[in-house]
Formats: sequence, C-alpha cells, structure tokens
Amino acid sequence: MIPYCDEARCAAAGCVPTLCTGAGVASNRELFERSERAIPGGVNSSIRAFKAVGGSPYVVARGEGPYVFDVEGKRYIDLVQSYGAVILGHAHPAITAAVIAAAEDGTSFGAPTPREMKLAEAISERVPSCELVRLMNSGTEATSTAVRLARGVTGRDRILTFAGNFHGATDALLAAGGSGVATLGLPGTAGVPNATVENTIVAPYNVVPQLDESVAAIIVEPVAANMGVVAPGPGFLEGLRAECDRVGALLIFDEVITGFRLGPGGAQAKYDIRPDLTCFGKVIGGGLPIGAVGGRADIMQGLTPIGKVFHAGTLAGNPIATAAGLAALDALTGDVYMELLARARQLSGVLRDACAAAGLAAQFPVVGTLVGMYFGDGPLPTNFDQAKTTSEAAYAALFQAALGEGIAFAPGAYEAVFVGLGHDDRVLDEIAVAVNVAAVKAVGALG
Ligand SMILES: *Cc1c(COP(=O)(O)O)cnc(C)c1O
Repeated sequence: MIPYCDEARCAAAGCVPTLCTGAGVASNRELFERSERAIPGGVNSSIRAFKAVGGSPYVVARGEGPYVFDVEGKRYIDLVQSYGAVILGHAHPAITAAVIAAAEDGTSFGAPTPREMKLAEAISERVPSCELVRLMNSGTEATSTAVRLARGVTGRDRILTFAGNFHGATDALLAAGGSGVATLGLPGTAGVPNATVENTIVAPYNVVPQLDESVAAIIVEPVAANMGVVAPGPGFLEGLRAECDRVGALLIFDEVITGFRLGPGGAQAKYDIRPDLTCFGKVIGGGLPIGAVGGRADIMQGLTPIGKVFHAGTLAGNPIATAAGLAALDALTGDVYMELLARARQLSGVLRDACAAAGLAAQFPVVGTLVGMYFGDGPLPTNFDQAKTTSEAAYAALFQAALGEGIAFAPGAYEAVFVGLGHDDRVLDEIAVAVNVAAVKAVGALG
C-alpha cells in the first residue's frame, strides 16, 4: 500500500504491499478533503492553501529534480521548490544519502553532536559576519530569537520592520503598518494583542527611517522576496547600517530566503553590508526543518547559557537536518551559483516572452538568483504599496492555466519563482511552451 492510497479501497481491491494494483489510489480532491477533516484548512502552512487563487491543491506524492508528481501521477515542473528551501532539486542524491546516513546514527539526542558543529562552522566560513551561529528549527524561530536577543542585549524594546517584508509567524513581527510612512504597528493577525506590537514600528521599504535611542533593532529582508522580488534601492541598506550605528541599534538581516541562494555570502556579500545579526532557514536545511541566527560574537554571547537571553529547543541542531544542510552547502560551489544566476535570468526571459506573446502584462524582475513576478505594465514596485498594485486576478488566471499545463507556481501573487539546479535548458524550454499556452488561456479567461 502506498501512503496516498485509500486503505478501505485497497482492502476491497485485494491490494497488499507486494501486490499493489494501484486500485486504492485516491484523487487529489479526495485526499485533500480527507486532510481538511484532520488538519485546519487541510494545510500545515496557510500559504499552501489555494485561497488566493481558487480551487483545491494538488497533493504531492513525490519529487525528483525539477518535478513534483501528485498522487494521481500527474507531473508538474515545480517552481515552488519548497518556497526556496530546496535549491539542488528534489530528492538530490547527495541530500538523500546524507539523510539516510544520519538517520542510521540516530535521529535526536539532546546532547551536542558533530554535525551541528560542522554546519555552524560552514555558515561562519561563508558568512563572515556570523562569528557565532545558533541553530534552531525554523526561520520563524530564528527571527523571534534574533528580536529577543537584540532587545535583551540593547536593553531597548522597540523594533523597526518594513511593510511587505515577511519574517515568519513571529508575534512581534506580525504587525501591519499604515500606508507610506513609518507607523506604530497594528496587529497583523487575530491573536496578536496590541501590546505585543506596540513596540513594533512599521516603515515603508526602501526609505531609510529616522531612528531614536529607543530602537533595539531594525529587521529587514535585504532583498524583499515576499512581495514579489524587490531589490534594495541604491543606498538603502547602507543607510540602515549608518542609522543603526548612529543610535546604537542592531541591524538584523533576515536572510531566510536570500541566505545561500544569492550566493555563499547571501545578500550581505552581494551588497557588502555587515549586519550585526543574520537569520537563516530554508536552504541551510537542504529541505529539512531548520533555522539559525548568526552574528557578532559579543552579541551572540548574549544568548543563554553564556548570556541572559533565553533560547532552547529540543530538536535544535537536529542531526538529520544538519546533515542535509551540510550536504546542500557542500554542493553549492561557486560554479553552481554561476549556473543558478544564468538560469534565473533565462527563466525570467522565458516567462516574460511567454506572457508577452499572449498579450498578458507581466514582468519578472531578477535579483541575482531570485526571480519575482509583477502583473502590470507600470514601473516595477520598490515598496509594498506599489507591489500591491499587481493584478491578483491575472496571476490567479495564469496560475490555474499553468497548473493545467503541468507548471506549478506558488499559489500566491507575491511569492518568488524559485529556480534550482534541476531546471536545465530542456526544462526551461518546456516552461516556455507551457506558460505561453497558459498565458493565452489566462488572457481568454480574464476576458
Ligand atoms: C520563509 C521565511 C521566514 C520563515 O521561515 P519558516 O522556516 O517558514 O518559519 C522568515 N523570513 C523570511 C524572509 C522568509 O522567507
């Protein structure tokens, strides 16, 4: 019996594991409806639901290189890539081998292990601002830990964040701002009390805010990749560094997406800015759950057991996740990044031409190895207010038509389009043809 079979149907068809006829295989819809009865909304990360685009998700049975296969056996070229966590392609042999080897040694101990030490070293070697690195389980845990650490070591409460930047499901950072100017945060979701965000200031991206000495830290996505892909404008990151230095605040780079995707040194190497703290996730786990905070040794020593800012985690530095992460970082050589850079440019061109030929107004900005989307003719957005002028209807139409043609984009208009090592020339050619067909259908559907 395969995991996505309907057990009752298997039994009725007389299937047993050694003699599976496939008679018990359930459809995407059946399995998703079953998930909805067990899991709120049928998903364990809200953005996976198809709320923004309509319809019901495909349920993934397995992945291989650039492809995912749903439970019905349909193949998709995958441009989600676990929202950037997978960069080498699905089921990459180096990752699979590392995971198996680590699992055979035991899955978790609650004691220091060599693999966590090696991953911390590997991060420090590649990202010089990370003199010390603490590993944890998600990007969300990394941003919440970095904020707590910044507040703890500065003795200040205020945090400044930027509208349209995403830092995971961290209460203090789930703040919504006003339009255009820096404002005190309002709760960005139900369940976050006003008091939790009353020390969070939300400012427009790409404008250097004026700080005062009540601010513990600025946290920023150095390349914004959760409102489409928006590059930092000239002087923006330099301005943040200078403004933090002026008032003694810390600069936190949230490199959960950009870390080890833009290159071995992340956005901080690309733009030559040294943050005080950096948050990681996604790529550093090779597709397994992970997060990390790295930074200046004197600040990182503020964490317990040396300092006074508490952090702990039963599975932090997990042997399997760190083995997969090490395998990923080892595979990400300079040549691989050169190749990914070329592919990102190629993918952007392919998507642009496919949409243009169909008369669909769409732009696909490239920042290094990151590709974004913006549906409209106007100038590319530089902040969240502008990003929100994208045509969500156009995106939803393209998304649905593309899915029908076997191309899986992420089910939201503000996500990046992730290119990995699996997306070779042949796959890019296939994307060109399929997305053109999809764009023609989308234009038709939009009327
Ligand atoms: C994905 C993401 C996070 C959250 O990471 P999780 O591992 O999903 O908790 C934080 N910051 C940025 C920039 C992200 O893209």
